[in-house]
Amino acid sequence: MAEVLDFDVLVIGSGAAGLCAAVAAHERGAQRILVAESEAAVGGSSRLSDGIVMGAGSRIQNEAGLEDSVEDLLHDYLTYNQYDVEIGPVTTLTHQSGQTLDWLQKHGVGIAPQLIQSGIEEGKRGHAVQGGGQGLIDPLHRYCRENGIEIALGRRVDRLLVRDGVVYGLAVGDDQVTARSVVVATGGFGADLEKVAEYLPSVYWEGWTWYIGADGARGDALGMAAEVGAQLTGRGNVLRTLAPNFSPKLTEARPPGWMVMIDSHGRRFMDESAFYTLVDQRYHHIGDRGFMVFDDAAMRPPAELADRYRSPFTQSYPGREPFRSKNYQPDLVDEMVAEGRMFKADTIAGLAAAASLPEDVLVAEVERYNRLCAAGEDTDQRKPAEFLLPVSTAPYYIAEVRPCMVNVTAYGMRIDADCRVLHENGTEIEGLFAAGECTGGVLGRAYVGSGNSLMNACVMGRAAGRVAAGRAASA
Ligand SMILES: Cc1cc2nc3c(=O)[nH]c(=O)nc-3n(C[C@H](O)[C@H](O)[C@H](O)COP(=O)(O)OP(=O)(O)OC[C@H]3O[C@@H](n4cnc5c(N)ncnc54)[C@H](O)[C@@H]3O)c2cc1C
Repeated sequence: MAEVLDFDVLVIGSGAAGLCAAVAAHERGAQRILVAESEAAVGGSSRLSDGIVMGAGSRIQNEAGLEDSVEDLLHDYLTYNQYDVEIGPVTTLTHQSGQTLDWLQKHGVGIAPQLIQSGIEEGKRGHAVQGGGQGLIDPLHRYCRENGIEIALGRRVDRLLVRDGVVYGLAVGDDQVTARSVVVATGGFGADLEKVAEYLPSVYWEGWTWYIGADGARGDALGMAAEVGAQLTGRGNVLRTLAPNFSPKLTEARPPGWMVMIDSHGRRFMDESAFYTLVDQRYHHIGDRGFMVFDDAAMRPPAELADRYRSPFTQSYPGREPFRSKNYQPDLVDEMVAEGRMFKADTIAGLAAAASLPEDVLVAEVERYNRLCAAGEDTDQRKPAEFLLPVSTAPYYIAEVRPCMVNVTAYGMRIDADCRVLHENGTEIEGLFAAGECTGGVLGRAYVGSGNSLMNACVMGRAAGRVAAGRAASA
């Protein structure tokens, strides 16, 4: 006689991946579902997020008259990542992205009709959830409450139950529950800086590096993978954003467009207003150390230029306040200069000396930049004209920056196109599925654009839930 199990499907983690898995499993007929969550609240980093979800072929894109397709998204995704991703799950990710957005809307997730530019795509693929991350989590959570899906808060799963290579449950200390299918959706590991230093060294500098996401993102899936012999993939993959070594540490993904960004040789090297995902990639190329150079006009703008200085970003989200710089504000900058965390000087040569950059190079670069501003066209780096404001009002400022803010970690369990976790020996581990930030190689070396990670969490969470329910039904 078949063993009586406590549940059909167990889900570990209640972020977007976990809740999408639970809802999709229920829709596929699983009746007894438990979501175990280590923290006191539902939602993980997903709840804290901006709620931008990338996708192609959605109803919203169609209604906006945008011509796009999942094949184009797959093509862009692979090209931008130079094919260095797990192509099976990435095909699921891109092919099911539009239908998953439609499905989220069906479940009450409000999505703004205005799309945003996610990254480098031709058409717009950024879908902005109304109410941000909380607006994504709340309707999914409500579905769970209304349909008998149990959510156990404050239950940090410390191991999987395995017999003869088959996963059949989970344990929190001495408490054990069993099920036909277990979905791991525990998020990333940014909250554990030791793991960050070990697996993602390109983002780690002692004292500089910090994580902007949820406390529960401690990488528990890495330990679970070791227990069951699961493959890990995507080592080194992380979305980093730039920050100066200021105190307090303020979350700011984008440098203001009026900055002049300089490498450690004193040379300007990119359009400073570029998408943060491109900035991250360029920092890999220049040795991960740069400088922001600006002048007093940026701190205390003349009235006629105030608007251009105040909101100097290419991206804005529908229905939300325009982005404003948090770090580069006069009071904070003065304080950071006084603390020696950045420098101020009456001349550009003085800035260079303070920051130990070659004086003649930095002076020449800033003079060249000012000439481009005067001409109104950045023929060197193609920064849009609206951001071309000269650096010509003393005193001048320089702040060293590094890509040291950990946004999304992308090293984790290797899965197949159906979210089944793969064993070191190449077989699927029976009973075990994974989705979201705890998996590896679905997000690649390059973050394709805003919404890449929530697309992963929602699409792959939903896919995992369906397959997990299918296995439970086949008992
Ligand atoms: C400020 C901010 C803004 C962002 N904005 C965006 C955006 O607009 N678009 C985008 O695509 N991405 C964004 N991201 C990234 C994105 O939010 C995350 O990568 C994504 O939400 C991860 O979803 P997840 O479900 O995999 O993990 P999470 O949402 O982190 O959920 C994992 C859950 O598992 C729980 N857990 C962990 N270990 C255990 C355990 N052992 N037992 C039980 N539970 C456990 C955690 O507590 C957590 O609740 C943003 C991130 C932040 C921090």
